[in-house]
Amino acid sequence: MHLSRFFMPVLRDTPKEAEIISHQLMLRAAMIKQSAAGIYSWLPLGLRVLKKIEGIVREEQNRAGAVEILMPTIQSADLWRESGRYEAYGKEMLRIVDRHERDILYGPTAEEVVTAIFRDSVRSYKDLPKNLYNIQWKFRDEIRPRFGVMRGREFLMKDAYSFDLTKEDARATYQRMFAAYLRTFARMGLKSVPMKADTGPIGGDLSHEFIILAETGESEVFLHKDLLDERVPPADTDFFGDLSGVVENWTSRYAATDEIHDAAKFENEVPEAKRVTARGIEVGHIFYFGTKYSAAMGAKVQGPDGQLVTPEMGSYGVGVSRLAGAIIEASHDEAGIIWPVPVAPFEVGLVNLRAGDAATDGACADLYNKLQAAGVEVLYDDTDERAGAKFSTMDLIGLPYQLIVGPKGVKNGEVEIKARAGAERETLGIEAGLNQVIAAVQSQRILA
Ligand code: ATP
Ligand code: MG
Repeated sequence: MHLSRFFMPVLRDTPKEAEIISHQLMLRAAMIKQSAAGIYSWLPLGLRVLKKIEGIVREEQNRAGAVEILMPTIQSADLWRESGRYEAYGKEMLRIVDRHERDILYGPTAEEVVTAIFRDSVRSYKDLPKNLYNIQWKFRDEIRPRFGVMRGREFLMKDAYSFDLTKEDARATYQRMFAAYLRTFARMGLKSVPMKADTGPIGGDLSHEFIILAETGESEVFLHKDLLDERVPPADTDFFGDLSGVVENWTSRYAATDEIHDAAKFENEVPEAKRVTARGIEVGHIFYFGTKYSAAMGAKVQGPDGQLVTPEMGSYGVGVSRLAGAIIEASHDEAGIIWPVPVAPFEVGLVNLRAGDAATDGACADLYNKLQAAGVEVLYDDTDERAGAKFSTMDLIGLPYQLIVGPKGVKNGEVEIKARAGAERETLGIEAGLNQVIAAVQSQRILA
């Protein structure tokens, strides 16, 4: 992509309305544009990141046996009357009346819709287990939308819903999603820690929030330090085998958010030197809730003995749009964003320091073609901005590698390369610089 043809209206100044760094940087780097309170347009740079995040979430859901569908954003209120949640949900639900005076709503979540799909199409235990997910926009009329996409009103969520014949099977499905979530966040360069969450009136121990540590997180969290070094399940994990060991490893040490923190237990279980108190961002939440929706909505399958069985259900959410902000909270410096390769909007920024100079243009065109041929995603700054402005824009938007080409270097057959995460630029022969950048990008595409 040539920058001159792209659409990236970066801002020089930090917008006053943005309180936290990720919101500031997303606005400055022209990733998003606010349209109304908590409602954003995604500009090209931001959309590319959102699609990368979505892609990783999708790959890991598929790996763990979930099947993608797409449910509507607009739902019928009648479905929610069946589950009893239409009245209970409260003001976060955006309620709409259509021209026939029928109540509809913009979905804040989709348990009802998916249970209706299941109820109308699955008859036998032989079709279980099933885990259906979608990546779809949600709307919650949050009382205080803030921090940009971190707490929006309209936001993109991956939500999966599982149906199992027995509690035991449901536990295995829960464990698969648990392991899939660990991989999902690690692949974005994030250290997530699953923390026991409140299961509300349903009880039980099967609810975890996946938390990223960050100073600007909305919840206070307490955990055993060693959890920060725990290994995530590798890509060749047998997701259909026994995953209880993975869950055991990650849940045997203390980790809790302020909602259910138990100070005495924390002090008892965790040696003082290992106690971490920090702030965290919730990027995912998995939940087993049994037959709450299947029973209320009359979803049943025929069991092995011919008797009708009400399936056990769970739901599993990932904050896809929130993750764009969370990754920036975890990876930035004074100059801007530092994208991990797997979620970067482009992998390499090619900077032409003298656009219009025949030799420099020629060298850049050649590098651009070679990067493209190697399958590397490159943003080519072919504009006639000053060098200083080009450097600060590249640092701001945070592409993992920069290839810098100026007239003097071209004369000497040299190019400068810079890893955004490192500090120094390095001068190399053009071919060597190109190969080094390609190799670095390729080696970092898969982080877990
Ligand atoms: P929170 O406690 O942050 O309000 P929640 O418990 O209401 O979240 P869930 O219903 O579990 O959220 O939704 C699944 C995921 O969707 C959350 O883990 C979070 O990452 C994301 N999410 C929830 N609300 C928002 C929002 N208003 N804006 C952006 N992402 C959100
Ligand atoms: Mg939650």
